[in-house]
Amino acid sequence: MTVPTRELEISGFRGDVITAEHADYDDARAIWNGMVDRRPRLIARCTGAADVAAAVRFARDHDLEIAVRGGGHNVAGTAVCDEGIVIDLSAMRAVSVDPAERTVHVQGGALWGDVDHETQAHGLATTGGIVSHTGVGGLSLGGGIGWLMRKHGLVVDNLVEAEVVTAEGEIVRASAHDHPDLFWALRGGGGNFGVVCSFRFAVHPLGPTVTAGPVIWAAEDTAEVLRFYREFVADAPDELGTIIRLGTIPPGPAVSHELRFRPAIAVGCCYAGPVPDGERAVRALREFGTPLLDLVGPTRYVDHQSGNDDTVLHGWHYYWKAASLMGLSDEVIDVIAEHAHRATSPRSYAAIFHMGGAVARVPRDATAYPGRDVAHHIIIDAVWPADQHGAVATAETAWAREFVQALQPHRAGVYVNFLDSDDDASRVREAYGDDTYRRLAQIKATYDPENVFHHNKNIEP
Ligand SMILES: Cc1cc2nc3c(=O)[nH]c(=O)nc-3n(C[C@H](O)[C@H](O)[C@H](O)COP(=O)(O)OP(=O)(O)OC[C@H]3O[C@@H](n4cnc5c(N)ncnc54)[C@H](O)[C@@H]3O)c2cc1C
Repeated sequence: MTVPTRELEISGFRGDVITAEHADYDDARAIWNGMVDRRPRLIARCTGAADVAAAVRFARDHDLEIAVRGGGHNVAGTAVCDEGIVIDLSAMRAVSVDPAERTVHVQGGALWGDVDHETQAHGLATTGGIVSHTGVGGLSLGGGIGWLMRKHGLVVDNLVEAEVVTAEGEIVRASAHDHPDLFWALRGGGGNFGVVCSFRFAVHPLGPTVTAGPVIWAAEDTAEVLRFYREFVADAPDELGTIIRLGTIPPGPAVSHELRFRPAIAVGCCYAGPVPDGERAVRALREFGTPLLDLVGPTRYVDHQSGNDDTVLHGWHYYWKAASLMGLSDEVIDVIAEHAHRATSPRSYAAIFHMGGAVARVPRDATAYPGRDVAHHIIIDAVWPADQHGAVATAETAWAREFVQALQPHRAGVYVNFLDSDDDASRVREAYGDDTYRRLAQIKATYDPENVFHHNKNIEP
């Protein structure tokens, strides 16, 4: 519906309202994935929960579609809509640590770099995203995987409480004691249940220096490295988080000119414990085969957390496919080795997250993140600069589709936060499984019966 500009005044709103006439409009509607080009009627840049509540009520009164923007990193671009209103939390990034209580209070528009910066000042950390410019909001609400999860659980396993603006425009608190059904749904159910204005997470002693970094082998060694890795992680301690990256070697100060953009397989490590213990835990990995490069060493945790930032810049074009795997069987390894290095863009890559540990010890029905028994999530990330849209885009999207299709026989669901825009409602159901989806739909019927919050990976009431 088209609302005349003079009616775009939100009663009781203190933040900025940005419409197409404003100089900031194009910046304000741009998100991480440069392929997403949507033109909302207005962007309500909120300063706090009161603004969010006012914006929700305004949207409902004017029958405007709502998109909620946290960090703006969702590849499907759900943070912006055409014609409707964007409830933009990007000005709500405050983070404060309570060291005595061992919790951190995080506003709904904060980025993971904000959280790491503040928590590490106290020698504390919590599980968070592996790229510091990713938003806390969307990542947390889908479950939240990261380097520390095998020791400290998923992001949602650390959630203590959340302040939420509901579809009615009411501000409520959700925790194990207040609105426990809403609290359950927020821990995996995405942005379906309201706008989270702030989170409180448990934090744990860490660092500031940890044993971290990648060991990198030539692409030709992919199958052998994966077979070794399968045994290596089988009895890895919970403290050891590892993520495999299959793609070219990103340029960086520690990478020689000859190795830049060379196709490779890297196993990234981060040990959530004392540095010497970490060195012992990764020794066998570093001694395997003939690495091209070994960058493992004592590293500041905050540096490790932002070490991949430049490999996924804002404004490039991105297309993702993903699947969950119960293990790295010989067949799975063969598929990965065959497809991983077929991308033509040197920016494209696949990443394989090692799950298990504390993640697997939480009962499946304790939260709305159901994939507790999954061994690995794989994400196939086609990436190309905006000015190469055309033949490169076609080749890269085909690569991602063929790769995920080849994994189809081994697929054990998918992580909801890795779904792209052409993943339809059946994929959302796949991500949750029948039992979790049914329970989420019931809670949705209580908190958002009219599906006001539907511009997301939608759970229908
Ligand atoms: C470079 C990169 C690295 C990533 N790394 C990881 C990783 O390490 N671990 C991992 O688990 N995932 C990772 N992801 C996936 C990530 O979890 C999703 O992209 C997630 O949607 C990003 O959240 P956001 O707030 O930045 O995104 P947005 O696009 O702003 O939000 C996505 C959706 O989440 C909802 N939402 C966001 N904030 C709020 C809020 N405060 N209240 C209510 N709803 C909200 C809205 O429905 C919104 O449409 C990564 C993504 C990228 C692009």
